[in-house]
Amino acid sequence: EGGDHLKRVIFMADTFDEECDYLFKAVLIGDSGVGKSNLLSRFAKDEFRLDSKPTIGVEFAYRNIKVGDKLIKAQIWDTAGQERFRAITSSYYRGASGAVLVYDITMRSSYENVRKWLLELREFGGEEMVVVLVGNKCDLDQSREVEKEEGKGYAETEGLCFMETSALKNLNVEEVFLQMITRIYHITRQKNLA
Ligand code: GDP
Repeated sequence: EGGDHLKRVIFMADTFDEECDYLFKAVLIGDSGVGKSNLLSRFAKDEFRLDSKPTIGVEFAYRNIKVGDKLIKAQIWDTAGQERFRAITSSYYRGASGAVLVYDITMRSSYENVRKWLLELREFGGEEMVVVLVGNKCDLDQSREVEKEEGKGYAETEGLCFMETSALKNLNVEEVFLQMITRIYHITRQKNLA
């Protein structure tokens, strides 16, 4: 376990440029057009620093969060449109402790594909990741194709957290990321104490 943690830190050492107690990587996944990059820019708005790794075609943003007296730096990766080309590889998932799996409540097919994203996540990211299932665009209730209870029920059977969001209206966006990050923090802390 300790070795795994070390690998994570080393992998991200090049971005370890500020004092913080913990550094976590999380990934955004889901079909193209569901709202991933809008969710990310909402969440990272205050400390917006969108960097990119053109070699593997990703973008990421950081945000510093205080949990108790600890400073956590969250590095969130976005696919930068690569999901269209099915070019997401193991390097995208490597070292990630969390994932936000997004579908669009007005696009049934994006919900049907959640199962496929979850399989990929479990293959490349391992079983221990904290995953939040997100039904985005809840401001478009009149065009809804996926009921809230459906998403919630599926999340429960798969052991995922669940929330509906609107990146447009800024509903629940903060909550999604903060829930994921505090969960990761508590799990990591418990491991370090064990
Ligand atoms: P990505 O491909 O998953 O990164 O999706 P984008 O963030 O690029 O969003 C795709 C489209 O959906 C854009 O036209 C956004 O303006 C729109 N969009 C994203 N989030 C919301 C939302 O919460 N509500 C509405 N109504 N539109 C959204």
